[in-house]
Amino acid sequence: MNAERIDLYGLTREELRLQCVRWGLAPVHAAKVWSHLYLDLAADLSPAAMPKLPERVRACIAAAAAPGVLATAARTDSADGWTRKFLLGLTDGGAVETVLMRYPGRVTACVSSQAGCAMGCVFCATGQMGFRRHLTAGEIVAQAVHVARMARAEPGEGGDRLRNIVLMGMGEPLHNYEAVMRAVEILLDPAGLALAADHITLSTVGVAPAILRLAREPRPPHLAVSLHAATQEERAALVPAAKRWPLEELMAACAAYSAATGRRILYEWTLIAGRNDSPDHARAVGRLLQGLPAQVNLIPLNPTEGYGGAPAELGAARAFQRVLAEEFSLPCTIRQRRGIDIAAGCGQLAQTD
Ligand code: SF4
Repeated sequence: MNAERIDLYGLTREELRLQCVRWGLAPVHAAKVWSHLYLDLAADLSPAAMPKLPERVRACIAAAAAPGVLATAARTDSADGWTRKFLLGLTDGGAVETVLMRYPGRVTACVSSQAGCAMGCVFCATGQMGFRRHLTAGEIVAQAVHVARMARAEPGEGGDRLRNIVLMGMGEPLHNYEAVMRAVEILLDPAGLALAADHITLSTVGVAPAILRLAREPRPPHLAVSLHAATQEERAALVPAAKRWPLEELMAACAAYSAATGRRILYEWTLIAGRNDSPDHARAVGRLLQGLPAQVNLIPLNPTEGYGGAPAELGAARAFQRVLAEEFSLPCTIRQRRGIDIAAGCGQLAQTD
């Protein structure tokens, strides 16, 4: 991104007001710009696309603001029509993937926080491509705005309004803490996209110190933790980041998050046939999570080019679920598989250049 230009999507409403003051504009103009971004869901920040804004305002934005809106480099729709994946171009020539998912009663955006990822989870396409860079807060917000715009332009199942955001796209959100939390603050603005904190979920591979920090935030998002194994040794083989933040440290941080926020954590478990899908594996996770406010989400492995494992059979997933429910009273869901045909499922996102 051009460093001298200002990404309007990276500014809170108050910061936008101050920026407009610096440009010599009245506060009413700041409100109009904000409305252009978040209520009109502007597809374009060029002067011609802002006829409702006074000439002076348009001139300031044209002269000093970054394009902000991310250009769609490619779009793929799933055969069932429930999922749309967008490859969105970044101003430095890179790109990230963002997914619109429709469910009965809701539209969810799966948003990326980094181009690539440094965590290297063995079964994940993003991890396989390596780390390129952190996204800015503006680039994270702009993805959500893009999905909101598409939901409005092409209404369908779940309605025409973006209601949920999952930070489960490319990247480890807690490795890009400042930008992600700034983006969350902007997304929560009641005069903007007006998302509820309860409707934003951040998924982490287990950056324990950042989980402790998140617990102290005034309005923390929901937390999902990618667990995948219940022993340090098995986990470190799937999730190299576990060597840096061992299971014991991670579970202590999760307990502290739940104690501070009163929230249940969603523990994600990618089910890989013959590797972590047996009833004994279920008992191990049951023992690990017993007594904690927890829910387990089972995700049969989604295929990626760089990993040879196979997804667990549905029967194995159901047996796993039964063990957790009957022996440990742990709520457990099996994730609805969405967008697998367009490689938009969990662990499948990657820049395809
Ligand atoms: S699963 Fe998440 S944390 Fe792991 S490599 Fe993929 S994007 Fe990174």
